[in-house]
Amino acid sequence: MDAFEYNGNPSRVVFGAGKIQSLPAELDRLGVTNPLVLSTPEQTHHAQSVADILQHKIAGTFSKAAMHTPTHVTDEALAYARAQGADSIVSIGGGSTIGLGKAISVRTGLPHLCIPTTYAGSEMTPILGETADGRKTTRTDPKILPATVIYDVELTMSLPVGMSATSGMNAIAHAVEALYARNANPITTLMALEGIKVLATALPDIVHDPHALAARSQAQYGAWLCATCLGMVGMALHHKLCHTLGGSFNLPHAETHTVVLPHALAYNAPHIPDVVRKLAEVLPGSEGDAARGLNVLLAKLGVKRGLKEFGMREDDIDKAADIAVSNPYWNPRSLDRDLLREVIRRAWAGEDAR
Ligand code: NAD
Repeated sequence: MDAFEYNGNPSRVVFGAGKIQSLPAELDRLGVTNPLVLSTPEQTHHAQSVADILQHKIAGTFSKAAMHTPTHVTDEALAYARAQGADSIVSIGGGSTIGLGKAISVRTGLPHLCIPTTYAGSEMTPILGETADGRKTTRTDPKILPATVIYDVELTMSLPVGMSATSGMNAIAHAVEALYARNANPITTLMALEGIKVLATALPDIVHDPHALAARSQAQYGAWLCATCLGMVGMALHHKLCHTLGGSFNLPHAETHTVVLPHALAYNAPHIPDVVRKLAEVLPGSEGDAARGLNVLLAKLGVKRGLKEFGMREDDIDKAADIAVSNPYWNPRSLDRDLLREVIRRAWAGEDAR
């Protein structure tokens, strides 16, 4: 067996339908009594459920979490947390709300309990992306990792079908890149393959029937596994491209991951034959070609396939290719500007990956 290093991230996970009811016990476990509850403006009802379960013994509710964790929102939430004497954070929502929780927690040292309601996976990582003056920067610090995560499938039942599909593909993207990460190890590979396998079946089932609790539960399990991989090993071309495209052209996060993933994999495929073989085994319809398997999955999900559908202009393709190679990073295949331009063009046009 090849040598490897493994770093587990120490967080506690409570998984199961109705497990939001264990919130009081989980806060007891953390030794805290006065949490600040976070949500987006669209999920105030979820924040309200948390307040009800805690019999309103909370520092307060802050419901202005926003995409890309703007620091001015964090500053406002911090001031509120201090004024209310909060001793902990409970974030309920997707990556945007969890990002705000991380931003407060890393600045104050307050313990952070997450209740995720999408499949994006931020809850399992020590990574925080923040935006100030229109620029997004990302940092990694063990202090950013949330202390406790409660996965309650019932909270995901309201996630619209389109968002379920793209958020689930965002999770699959973490696992695909974990398979060929420079610091991949047998444990992350196990989790990545299981996560992809489970999601590749559950997501089409959810699109078919959004109320299918069993499929939603499987998807949440898969998303947890994929997110754990994201938190443990380094990412490469796919995540860097999505970061570039999202940040430079204001493209939506999960949808961009969904469009780009087959193309990024097709680019790397000739240099990672073992990964392609393993991936093809867990993606139905692959016929030995994992990029084809992803094309098939996206067709089943009925998602938008072209970045042009999200407002990216054709003359942004060259700009994107320039940015993609301007900041070199590790990738299994070296970065070739012209070949990457073609990858981006295909993603822009909404073509199948090949
Ligand atoms: P999001 O948190 O922005 O949520 C999108 C919208 O869906 C919001 O209005 C939200 O309130 C709503 N929503 C969430 N769950 C819902 C539910 N169950 N029912 C109905 N509506 C619901 O989207 P996201 O894709 O979860 O997160 C994207 C953000 O997370 C990006 O900023 C991304 O950079 C970040 N992210 C960070 C990491 C990390 O490790 N740091 C990992 C993944 C994503």
